[in-house]
Amino acid sequence: MKYFILFGPPGAGKGTQAGAMKQRYNLCHLSTGELLRSEIASGSELGLKAKALIEAGNLVPDEVVEGMIEERFRKTTGVDGFLLDGFPRTIAQAEALDLILGKNGKKVTAVVSIMIPDELIGERIAHRATIEGRADDASPEIVQNRINTYHAKTEPLVDFYRKDGRYHEIDGVGSIEEVQKRIFDLMDRF
Ligand code: ADP
Repeated sequence: MKYFILFGPPGAGKGTQAGAMKQRYNLCHLSTGELLRSEIASGSELGLKAKALIEAGNLVPDEVVEGMIEERFRKTTGVDGFLLDGFPRTIAQAEALDLILGKNGKKVTAVVSIMIPDELIGERIAHRATIEGRADDASPEIVQNRINTYHAKTEPLVDFYRKDGRYHEIDGVGSIEEVQKRIFDLMDRF
């Protein structure tokens, strides 16, 4: 089993690229953002708790997403690996992931990081807001808070994974096809 982490700031194009990656490598795509949005849509207790945090541009508690991921690892069959999208998002989550995988003698295969400059983040999210209607895309203040949260809590993961050579950066500026080719060229090596 391979465990890929799809990393990058909000709006980097993770969701856009994930579909093709999942198909080419027979991976289960686990997006914590999508899992949380479906909890909200179903009106579950977890969804109710997550809603306010997400819509303010804050993170939900580590334990919540860790539990969701562990459950999916357990229940998913028939794939060659997982594509983690939006997880881990904090150092604590990365440590928890290592523990969860370590229990089964597994480890993160590679981090595929799609990088775009901050100026592009706002532009891409503003565009997505006109298409998808996500509550957390709706106002520039919330988007700015997500960018700040990314720099403060998520960006430290770059060093965390770089230290042991699992971190691989892709330039996320360019057409969808151009970025996809860069990703495939990298992932074909694993
Ligand atoms: P994006 O990558 O565009 O910021 P996501 O769909 O990945 O959006 O996530 C949307 C929101 O869901 C995040 O801003 C956060 O509130 C919550 N969320 C998603 N994944 C996590 C996580 N691993 N830890 C904590 N909160 C998360």
